[in-house]
Amino acid sequence: MYLADYHVHASCSPDGKFTVEQLAEHAVSIGLDELCITDHVDTYYWKGFTPRDDFPWEKAKADFDRAVERFGDRLKLRLGAELGEAYWSYERMEKILSEAPPLDFLIGSVHMASRRHGQFDLYFIEEADETFYHDVIDGYMEEMAGLVQWGKFDVIGHMTLPLRYINEKHNRTMTFEKHMHQAEDIFRVIIPKGIGIECNTNRGNAILPEEAVLKLYREMGGEIITLGSDAHVPEHIGCQMAEAQELLRSCGFRYFTTYTQRKPEFHPL
Ligand SMILES: [Zn+2]
Ligand SMILES: [Zn+2]
Repeated sequence: MYLADYHVHASCSPDGKFTVEQLAEHAVSIGLDELCITDHVDTYYWKGFTPRDDFPWEKAKADFDRAVERFGDRLKLRLGAELGEAYWSYERMEKILSEAPPLDFLIGSVHMASRRHGQFDLYFIEEADETFYHDVIDGYMEEMAGLVQWGKFDVIGHMTLPLRYINEKHNRTMTFEKHMHQAEDIFRVIIPKGIGIECNTNRGNAILPEEAVLKLYREMGGEIITLGSDAHVPEHIGCQMAEAQELLRSCGFRYFTTYTQRKPEFHPL
């Protein structure tokens, strides 16, 4: 079984503390075949949400190269990025990307509630009733619909992200069932563009997106799917990868995807 973790945060992420070397060392110790570093690259600073149009690419590349030097013979390392809130300013995001070294892989993510909900980080979603939660998910999917029109990335990150925080922090068991029509609209846009989705093993918690969404994507012809843990610490790297591969198989996928220089490569499940 080929094991590739395509969503991992290192120390160039505001919430990442570990160096690429530390992460790679752990990946080797658990027998991972491939690791793609996807630090948060955002159009704003986390503190105060002030606009941002730069990124420490030199540091990111130097950290990455050091890890390749030490572990490159035992682990395939790839340099990617998780683009956060590109839809807040495509201009700023494109400037940041124009200054980047050659990247292997880009995730496009929405992390914030929509304008009409006050653009708070979904991580901070409060205890509320399900009507409110469904409305927040609606707004989140509206932002995603804009993001995929821009579409300058390889896969959509953690497509059902609000559920991570609603269910894990507020002990709910909500599903995406009422939002399937929005997922369908997104798939109708991304599949012809060659954009995929990720199966996010969510640091060992409930896999995102859920089975019904994965099945819908596959039934609509979606084939491009990466596997990522969203690890911010070494111990989460590669978590639930075997289970996720089994889940994808049961949803009708035959392959999962990795990238080199933005070109997809397919691995049998
Ligand atoms: Zn994310
Ligand atoms: Zn992430």
